[in-house]
Amino acid sequence: MDLGLKNKVAVITGGSVGIGLAVAKGFATEGAHVAITARNAERLEAARVEIARAGAIRVMTVACDLATAEGVATVVAAVEREFGGADILLNNAGTGSNETIMDAPDDKWQYYWELHVMAAMRLARGLVPSMRRRGGGVILNNASICAAQPLWYEPIYNVTKAALVMLSKNMANEFIKDGIRVNAINPGFVLTPDWIKTAKQLTANKGGNWQGYIDDLAKENAPIARFASPEEVADFFVFLCSARASYSVGSTYFVDGGMLKTI
Ligand code: NDP
Repeated sequence: MDLGLKNKVAVITGGSVGIGLAVAKGFATEGAHVAITARNAERLEAARVEIARAGAIRVMTVACDLATAEGVATVVAAVEREFGGADILLNNAGTGSNETIMDAPDDKWQYYWELHVMAAMRLARGLVPSMRRRGGGVILNNASICAAQPLWYEPIYNVTKAALVMLSKNMANEFIKDGIRVNAINPGFVLTPDWIKTAKQLTANKGGNWQGYIDDLAKENAPIARFASPEEVADFFVFLCSARASYSVGSTYFVDGGMLKTI
């Protein structure tokens, strides 16, 4: 299937590792130019080499903190300078949390709000003008199954990801008149390096069987009884950003191995 992504410019936040990196490689394989962003410059450089090997014509990295307005402005300016704008924006940068509502301070809530919601909004505000100039575009917001089905230990993550899904719907309504399609994806468990690090930490004092911890978690929560690989969810992201998904607008798609308990 030709996805029609050749020579498109795709901006992927959090593209240095995990799901973002897998999606960036997916775009590269389809002949798209790729801009990836993250804070850690070393990891970005390693990712750039990997993506270039997958086939992207031009790969750009932008090191910045997206939880700040300045960080977002840096990305928008770099994309304008290097590519003259963007066709695709994947708002993917994000991270889990661990707290109770009673104990978490205001500034923790604020940080996650900035990273999961404001960054997506600011990037859209910065890149939509170039999408309009280029005749349309796609914005995909990577939320989480936790936006609809919360995990008990991370209320801040759950709430801010739910807000991202609502932002996504509102973006879709506002931007479709300009030929810009917006959707959200709610992945379930995806085995990224961050999950492995967490599993190793949680099992360090209990024999170190991190793989067993991951397996049990999947069996307890997802009918498919395993984590996804980043690559197997990435294909769905790439498809949704392609012209083959031209009638998909304002929806939220679960890619969760059956984890969502409602219809
Ligand atoms: P990773 O932790 O593997 O990667 C997160 C990426 O975001 C990294 O590139 C990281 O780079 C970047 N990032 C984090 N904070 C910031 C920041 N303040 N500014 C700029 N970049 C930042 O995450 P995953 O691949 O696991 O997850 C990607 C997205 O998918 C996240 O939004 C996550 O919530 C969501 N998701 C993940 C699931 C999973 O099971 N893995 C399930 C459901 C949703 P750096 O640290 O260098 O800044």
